[in-house]
Amino acid sequence: MDKTQDSKPWSVRDLIPENHPRRESLLIREKLVEAMEKSILVPQGLIAHGRGECFDYLIGEKTQSFAEKAIEVAAAMLLLAKSPVISVNGNMAALVPEDLVKLAEEANAKLEVNLFYREVKRERAIAEVLYKANAKEVLGVGEDASATIPELFSERRRVSPRGIYIADVVLLGLEDGDRTEALVKMGKKVIAIDLNPLSRTSRTATVTIIDNITRAIPKLVLKVRELKSKSRQDLIQIVSNYDNRKIIAEALRYISERLNQLSLSL
Ligand code: ATP
Ligand code: MG
Repeated sequence: MDKTQDSKPWSVRDLIPENHPRRESLLIREKLVEAMEKSILVPQGLIAHGRGECFDYLIGEKTQSFAEKAIEVAAAMLLLAKSPVISVNGNMAALVPEDLVKLAEEANAKLEVNLFYREVKRERAIAEVLYKANAKEVLGVGEDASATIPELFSERRRVSPRGIYIADVVLLGLEDGDRTEALVKMGKKVIAIDLNPLSRTSRTATVTIIDNITRAIPKLVLKVRELKSKSRQDLIQIVSNYDNRKIIAEALRYISERLNQLSLSL
């Protein structure tokens, strides 16, 4: 690598013009690259993000109504839960650490590090980011990840016996389909944030928020805050009318109609 790159005398923030149409997206990429340099993220996390970006493009890089509806149900579900847990991986820690901590506080949920490519160094780096963002406690680091999710063979099966193992509601983002399925099989309600409405995670989760974590997590914080004043009965009402298949179908229809419109406007 050349010397100028090594010392980075420039900041990417200054290099990308304010009016660049992809400015936000480029700044997010930069955050992820920095997180990789600090061992928070593995290179595979960058590839996963790329797949997400493609779907974000297709939904217009905005939180659409199918995501708003899922966010409301997710917020009610978190408030109704006995032991809610937010599962955190490298991408989430790199992009929305403060909002994850706020969400844990508002929803009275635990934060747990859970990684596909588990390494104690990386677990610690992620926990560090969350502690810096004011987290009170971070589960799933080192020896704490001593329980096992049945029928799962990746390192993601290792979880905290005080966290995901006993959780009734688990919120996760950029998750692998196998683990989502295993958690659902254990009887847990799974809230997934995934930009791809076709992924196995999206199709298996109890509630799928088809949106970017950078928009969905802050919106979820606000929604939990708003719904806190509702009665338990009202919250149950919000959750019980929900059908996740309809939400996924709505997202797919939105994408296809949008592409159709665009094709007509050429
Ligand atoms: P599955 O295993 O569920 O079928 P997959 O193998 O296609 O999914 P993974 O690499 O396991 O995908 O997980 C990454 C998922 O996260 C992808 O579906 C991608 O669209 C999504 N994703 C990537 N970046 C973001 C983001 N910033 N916000 C929300 N979702 C994202
Ligand atoms: Mg996968």
